[in-house]
Amino acid sequence: SSNHPALRAEAVVDLGAIRHNVATLRAVAAGAQLMTVVKADAYGHGLLPVARAAREAGADWIGAAVIEEALALRAGGDTGRIFCWLTAPGEDLTAAVAAGIDLSASAPWGIDELGAAARTTGTIARVHLKIDTGMGRAGATPEDWPELVRVAQAAEAAGLIEIAGIWSHLAMADDPKNRVNDQQLEIFQAAVDDAGALGVRPPFRHIANSGGTLRLPASHFDLVRPGLATYGLSPFGRAITSAELGLRPAMTLRARLSVVKRVPAGTGISYGHTYVTPVPTTIGLLPLGYGDGVPRHASGTGPVWVAGERRSIVGRVCMDQSLIDLGDDPVQPGEDVVLFGPGDRGEPTVDDWADAAQTINYEIVTRLGARVPRTYV
Ligand code: PLP
Repeated sequence: SSNHPALRAEAVVDLGAIRHNVATLRAVAAGAQLMTVVKADAYGHGLLPVARAAREAGADWIGAAVIEEALALRAGGDTGRIFCWLTAPGEDLTAAVAAGIDLSASAPWGIDELGAAARTTGTIARVHLKIDTGMGRAGATPEDWPELVRVAQAAEAAGLIEIAGIWSHLAMADDPKNRVNDQQLEIFQAAVDDAGALGVRPPFRHIANSGGTLRLPASHFDLVRPGLATYGLSPFGRAITSAELGLRPAMTLRARLSVVKRVPAGTGISYGHTYVTPVPTTIGLLPLGYGDGVPRHASGTGPVWVAGERRSIVGRVCMDQSLIDLGDDPVQPGEDVVLFGPGDRGEPTVDDWADAAQTINYEIVTRLGARVPRTYV
């Protein structure tokens, strides 16, 4: 067991925090069902453990981007409602349809492909029709919407599909007061009304991500789809903290110093010598680098917490390793280093890393490499 990689580094995921966040989100959108979004390996936290914790805390649905994720949930024993929205033209949909995964269609060809999979498998394909209300991504334009609804209605009448939902996605829910949100909700309501006028009134209308779930009650409809907030992170950047939202950050990234050494003033550190020690100091080697998802953009800025003190990455982040200037701290090899955690002990947070790397909290956790073992508490 002395070779266990957790001796080097690990991402500790607090499943109690996940359950707490799911329960909080359920309470916030009490009038709607809850879909916990677990795409991209549950934003880096681990697909199956997060999905199980979410179901335990009452998630009615699990949301995945791609079919591989949805099928991995079924293979992991999840028998509940699963929605999966990202398929490529010509992709084999039969396994997903046979597994009872709800899928999305944005155009008549999507309905045709679902109908074909339904014929092959002898299973009615459940579909959610997507309207683009202003994200500019997938979804029928308002002009193309009536045609999509009519094609879906015909496939339903033919016994091939069941229209289970009408859905869309918000582009600016991180800024709840932005009027683009109101415009999107208006376009969404008009699409729902147009479908209703054609006799299509599916049970699940949904558009809310974390931001919508937490701060735009008008976006809740029948079902909300928070991802980020599940992991205890705020979709509002610094404007509203996760603590203010009643959320608990679930992931702590820690590692152990693999080398500690005293160096004189004027020592060049890491590739390119972008850092040169100003005074005699102690340098610690962190066995994590950009190959593990530590952003190279955080070279010289990434914050860490060692022996109760804030320190920072110095010099360039390498593929597997990074360096820390420990000053005169009496730190030993093997000392624990926290890169980020909930923040309540003084350690940096995911948001601190997002600032250091000039990105968003979503990217910091999602890009954490497969080489870092996830452990669960
Ligand atoms: N719904 C869809 C279609 C998404 O692509 C995502 C992720 O971006 C979500 C919901 C969850 O979004 P968030 O993580 O902002 O809550």
